[in-house]
Amino acid sequence: MLHIECPWCGFRDDAEFHYGGEAHITRPDPSITLTDEKFSEYLFLKTNTKGLLLERWCHRSGCRRWFNVLRNTITNEILEVYPVTETPSSKQGKETYEKNWRRESYSKKTPKTDEAK
Ligand SMILES: [Zn+2]
Repeated sequence: MLHIECPWCGFRDDAEFHYGGEAHITRPDPSITLTDEKFSEYLFLKTNTKGLLLERWCHRSGCRRWFNVLRNTITNEILEVYPVTETPSSKQGKETYEKNWRRESYSKKTPKTDEAK
């Protein structure tokens, strides 16, 4: 069984938590023309990492608050827990954050025409 440390409630069994998917994935900007391909990429393409992964978790049966976790998907070891409004502070967390190809949304990668001038 996985034990997760909620930043507000402490260590609890994983049954009390809800997995929220990969952390730091930005929803595509609706103010730009978004193709079906790009939106389906956002919805359905998931990183299937063997190793370190930044994830969102919610303490569903406790304080009901969301937080981020750096977890090793091979060993289930949780290396860091941090607020959803922040980025990881550990060395491994920062490296994992920088490696994530989905960290920036399509809109951030594609500058708007008036900004490109
Ligand atoms: Zn909690």
